[in-house]
Amino acid sequence: MLHDIVIVGGGPGGYASALYAHNFGLSVALVEMERPGGTCLIRGCIPAKHWLHVADVFSTVSHAAEFGVVTEHPTLDWPAALARKNKTVDGLVRGLAGLLKQKDVEVITGVGKLAGPGKVEVFMGGPTRALEGGAVILATGSHTRTIPGYEIDGRRIVTSDHALDWGERPRSVAIIGGGVIGCEFASFLIDLGVEVHVFEVMDQILPGSDTEAAHHLQRQLEKRGVRFHIGVAVEAPVVGPLVKLPFGDQSVEVDVVLVCVGRGPNTEEVGLETVSAVLDDEFVKVDRATMETDQRGLYAVGDIVAGTPQLAHVGFAEGIAAVTHIATGSAQPVNYRAVPRVTYSHPEVAEVGLSEAEAVEQGLDVAVVKHSFAGIGRAIIIGDNYGFAKVVSVKGGPIVGATVVGPQAGELIHELMLAVGWEALPEEAAAFVHSHPSLSEVVGETLLSAAGRSLH
Ligand SMILES: Cc1cc2nc3c(=O)[nH]c(=O)nc-3n(C[C@H](O)[C@H](O)[C@H](O)COP(=O)(O)OP(=O)(O)OC[C@H]3O[C@@H](n4cnc5c(N)ncnc54)[C@H](O)[C@@H]3O)c2cc1C
Repeated sequence: MLHDIVIVGGGPGGYASALYAHNFGLSVALVEMERPGGTCLIRGCIPAKHWLHVADVFSTVSHAAEFGVVTEHPTLDWPAALARKNKTVDGLVRGLAGLLKQKDVEVITGVGKLAGPGKVEVFMGGPTRALEGGAVILATGSHTRTIPGYEIDGRRIVTSDHALDWGERPRSVAIIGGGVIGCEFASFLIDLGVEVHVFEVMDQILPGSDTEAAHHLQRQLEKRGVRFHIGVAVEAPVVGPLVKLPFGDQSVEVDVVLVCVGRGPNTEEVGLETVSAVLDDEFVKVDRATMETDQRGLYAVGDIVAGTPQLAHVGFAEGIAAVTHIATGSAQPVNYRAVPRVTYSHPEVAEVGLSEAEAVEQGLDVAVVKHSFAGIGRAIIIGDNYGFAKVVSVKGGPIVGATVVGPQAGELIHELMLAVGWEALPEEAAAFVHSHPSLSEVVGETLLSAAGRSLH
């Protein structure tokens, strides 16, 4: 049967493509082997943020006495917290299914495989179904990776897939990898009373992020008890009653090892050999303006794309770009320069555009200004006035990057996203008045400093 678009993979990249196609009245088949929702809804963004919120609630109640609110010492009903996570995920998945139905997307449950240009075969356990699309979008996403010696058994050596579904609190966890996902787990596990070690082979956590922001996060987590082992490569584990992780002449012993070392693209066994798309180190190469691969009419979006960030909102944006090109023939490229990147740990770390180091590396002559949360009234009220906002701008030119670390950084970054996206001059961005008392005043003060003036 011929559809305007056949999409393989129902995660953020795939389902956003399917939903957006409705704007153009295109007929869509969406092939998904599980429930639509993908990593993000089912075992990524949503469940991880759920656990971070559980930790926030627990910490708030634990520190309620500081605000004169007297409570009993809180305890955590882990199964109840897990049940709420499942309810949240199920609700969102059901909502998405309803939305897909409302937009006339034909959802086909099965394993999709390319079978030549414009052709997809769907394996459903019974007879195979053959689909044909005017265009095909590959959105098969990514899977967890591990390192040599750390064979995932789902019990003692696990990935985020397993850890988000733990039925009880582990006593101690060693997290291998201090990137975004590793730091988010460290943040909520320590707040929920777990002993946490983080091993990072690079010279800072959140490699590639603003170094000062990464150090701030590390210090805040250390204060709460996380033990970091930076610049350390762990050797093969010894699994006994506990798991022993040797490194150099030292070792730590924990109940569980959580491996958070990045995600690989699902580009094997999807039939890429039947088309002329080109791979770059397992990822699919695309024309960044249109998301079209080297095979005309075949598009790729989301985590499988070579060289673009593995983020749900990037998947959404790439889906929109691909569908726009399919429907109109014109390119509406994703503005990767202005994509926010957020680590939802406590404190949150949010970035957009270039860090100071990246700007310097690109030969830009930049000015960097920073304003602390320390004196921000709203931050003092909520008892969380640690961290800062930082703006990087070209001297005499536009804002090219920004970082916020502290309360609600993941929300505050969006104002700076507009400044970076619109290439605003500091004085243009600083001309707006921020409401008082709000956390966003930290951004207002930083923009004012970037414009060469200051208030507080
Ligand atoms: C713990 C964790 C936390 C995260 N937190 C965030 C966050 O806060 N913010 C953020 O932006 N990103 C976050 N991410 C990343 C985000 O989840 C991914 O970037 C996003 O899900 C990628 O979307 P996608 O559509 O490319 O792929 P996926 O979401 O991986 O979806 C791919 C889909 O394709 C299906 N599929 C694969 N092969 C086939 C096949 N052959 N046939 C049929 N179906 C197939 C899969 O079942 C899956 O449903 C997180 C990831 C993890 C693991």
